[in-house]
Amino acid sequence: MSLGFSKASDFDSVASEYRWMNQLRIKVGQIITNLWVRRRHRCPAGAIAVVLLMFLLGYSWLDLQSPAQCGREEGIHLQPLDSLAVTQVNVQSTQEKREVELKEQLRTHLGEIVRERDPYLNTGGHFYVQQYIRQQLGQWGNVDTHEFTVRGKVHQNLVLNLPAARSNKRPLLLIGAHYDAVPGSPGADDNATGVAVLLELARSLFQEPANYPVRLVAFDMEEYGLLGSTEYAAALRQQQQPLRLMISLEMLGYRDQRVGSQRYPAGLKRFYPNCGNFMALIGNWQTLPDLFRLSDRLRKVGVPSEWLPAGQRGTLIPATRLSDHAPFWDQGYRAMMVTDTAFLRNPHYHQQSDRIDTLDLDFLTAVCRGLAVGIRHLA
Ligand SMILES: [Zn+2]
Repeated sequence: MSLGFSKASDFDSVASEYRWMNQLRIKVGQIITNLWVRRRHRCPAGAIAVVLLMFLLGYSWLDLQSPAQCGREEGIHLQPLDSLAVTQVNVQSTQEKREVELKEQLRTHLGEIVRERDPYLNTGGHFYVQQYIRQQLGQWGNVDTHEFTVRGKVHQNLVLNLPAARSNKRPLLLIGAHYDAVPGSPGADDNATGVAVLLELARSLFQEPANYPVRLVAFDMEEYGLLGSTEYAAALRQQQQPLRLMISLEMLGYRDQRVGSQRYPAGLKRFYPNCGNFMALIGNWQTLPDLFRLSDRLRKVGVPSEWLPAGQRGTLIPATRLSDHAPFWDQGYRAMMVTDTAFLRNPHYHQQSDRIDTLDLDFLTAVCRGLAVGIRHLA
């Protein structure tokens, strides 16, 4: 649904209606998710019924979100931290300080990573970025190298393991981002933003560990057909390595507040906002409870968030398979992509113009913080 607003009061009344409905939608979703998880639903028919119910509950109200968010030029609004025994003013100022620091760290990473770095045509840039990632991740532990060969040339995925808060016997939470870029593009959004967030998640999850052991992987050769992640997912499956969840960070920093700035694959348009100001979470159906939880966390830090269960392997909507999560789907793992929707929103996709100055660093910073909190609290 697309609505125009002539007066601020029109906007506010729909915005408050949207907030009320959205809260109700999230609550109902959480109750269903909890019931589903508690009963350990394994019946395919039951799972399909739950997914259909989610669609009905979720999407029938979603299009109110578009006018409530679009057309309003505003930054990310910070929410207070969880209740602490300090004044809200102190909490707010500490949080704002952290936010500024995080933004500067992300900006620094982007400054190092954004450059031409095709593994064949820009070997200097590619090597530089690889070494930068190795050095940054190396602050938090040993960086392992997963090597694979393509047409006689050896390529590297870089891997860092971080311990869990308590038991390391739990299955791994794997977070990945690809560090290569297409020839002729400095790849700021694609995918320096994903790598920058990966590096800051490493810092955050080292300082305050998650409930699961975390493995961070910087993948190579994504742009040549998801080659690094395909090799890695196959190796994990061969080792019978269980995974709690795989998250692919794929283009996280482009936002467009204008009405009509968001495009969709065929059939999805009527269910989602037409304003390109949100993060999209796209997972196979086993990730449904996690899609809810992470989406909810992002919303709580002021990032509008939409989710899409893409079936078992995303074959119905091919655009959902265009990143490093897809090989994990194919190996039967729970996996999701977090994305600003790439070419469906960003006109600089795979262009020479995919530069830092086209990114929205406030948006990127909030996404990074929301993901850190969400990942840390995954049950
Ligand atoms: Zn790309």
